[in-house]
Amino acid sequence: MNINSIFHAAQAAFLVFKNLSGKEKGRFLDTLAEILESSRAAIVPLAVRESNLLEGRINGELGRTTGQIRLFANLVKEGSWVEATIDPAMPDRSPLPRADIRRFLTPLGPVVVFGASNFPLAFSTAGGDTISALAAGCPVIYKAHPAHPETSRKVAECIHQTLAACGLPVALFTHVEGGIEEGQELVKHTMAKALAFTGSHAGGMALFHLANQREVPIPVFAEMGSVNPIFCFPQKLEKENDALAKAFVASLTLGAGQFCTNPGLIFVPEKQVQNFGKAIATELKDMAAAPMLHPGIAKAYYDSIQSLKARNELCWVKVADPKHLINGSPALAEIKAADWLKDRFFHQEVFGAFALLVIYRNQEELLEIAQQLQGQLTITVWAEEEELADQLSLVNLLEEKCGRLIFKGVPTGVEVGHAMQHGGPFPSTTASQSTSVGSHAIKRFTRPIAFQDMPQKLLPEALMDANPLGIWRTVNGILTK
Ligand code: NAP
Repeated sequence: MNINSIFHAAQAAFLVFKNLSGKEKGRFLDTLAEILESSRAAIVPLAVRESNLLEGRINGELGRTTGQIRLFANLVKEGSWVEATIDPAMPDRSPLPRADIRRFLTPLGPVVVFGASNFPLAFSTAGGDTISALAAGCPVIYKAHPAHPETSRKVAECIHQTLAACGLPVALFTHVEGGIEEGQELVKHTMAKALAFTGSHAGGMALFHLANQREVPIPVFAEMGSVNPIFCFPQKLEKENDALAKAFVASLTLGAGQFCTNPGLIFVPEKQVQNFGKAIATELKDMAAAPMLHPGIAKAYYDSIQSLKARNELCWVKVADPKHLINGSPALAEIKAADWLKDRFFHQEVFGAFALLVIYRNQEELLEIAQQLQGQLTITVWAEEEELADQLSLVNLLEEKCGRLIFKGVPTGVEVGHAMQHGGPFPSTTASQSTSVGSHAIKRFTRPIAFQDMPQKLLPEALMDANPLGIWRTVNGILTK
């Protein structure tokens, strides 16, 4: 099938799917979760072989994938997510009467989704982007990631099996394989209404520019990575030195560091650096190298380490050993805050288990660091509560720089729920107003529309006076059923 016929079929399917009730969309998603679960024995070995990730991790990732599918199923079955807002007419209002205005979220149409290499299931074929788009009512044209083609085909098969079982058009989901050119053709197609992407900064920005050069630009939800800084405060380190070092190294090396929330930067006060650095070195000493997703990612990791090794400002605590090739061996270097502040080269993400420990001297330096930080998915603050009492300026600055501010634990491990925000200011993403994880992710694939003085019978059910769906709506500014 050529790209033009893919989009025409998707647009035809959209017109059917868009008007399906939330209950029916929810049934489709629940069935998909069941079919994926029942195909576990076929999917897991493929994903393990193609990603080098451990069986336990892939099994967990499949559970996370079906869990998020069920989250969206429940969301659309309940229905209030459309944010129905009604300002009824006020014909007697003076000096001018008010028209009847009703607003809700409507799906965009066919959208293009690029799968991620580091989550072969949860951020790929039936991952969060695909599922939130389908839940919103949008057909998905999915560009498979070349790192796990067989896994992707198998999951696509499950989606098509589900569509057939639910009597829905097959063109609601199209699996496209190919390279950069095919991906770009999808983004350029006039019928594409949005694009979602998780991957490198270079890839995300290339697609962002392409989408904006179209005659009709489209929204781009690109998640391009982050260094997820951790800010350590003295009293906290005094109290929990070894436990925090352990937690940090476990988070840094989890999945060979191939998480978008991997902590690649840690700011440590000068007085504590000796103790804390020593505890980290102890944890890292026997940490084995772990296989990376594919040779290209391993090469990119070692190339980045090589370019860092050429810099005199760094003092290496543990150096990654490139003889491991496909295996990413963890690495850590220290740098003074004054040097880190001078050169943006040290602010970049190294995708893998590498972190930079930055030694700060005082409060002024800490504020300067926060000013200079680029946009991040997460920022973590390790401090005793009393240490934060006079840190409002710092906390406010950090709030400007990230999508999720964490005060306990580590940045890895992203809960899939209603309150989650996984997305932050540029360059971590191209759309900081949105999230790619959690139920708010559905809104990326919708736009608001208002109906003015529309006859009751023509209105979508969500906006009818009788509220036949029984959803929560804002009427005259008050939330009500
Ligand atoms: P990637 O190179 O950005 O590729 C992701 C997807 O985008 C692939 O399908 C790729 O197509 C496509 N693509 C890349 N550049 C493109 C362009 N200019 N035009 C059109 N399509 C393009 O990411 P990756 O392969 O997963 O890993 C490479 C690096 O990405 C890693 O080393 C890491 O730095 C980063 N990464 C970041 C995250 C994150 O959490 N944000 C996740 C994974 C990887 P092809 O089919 O041709 O490959």
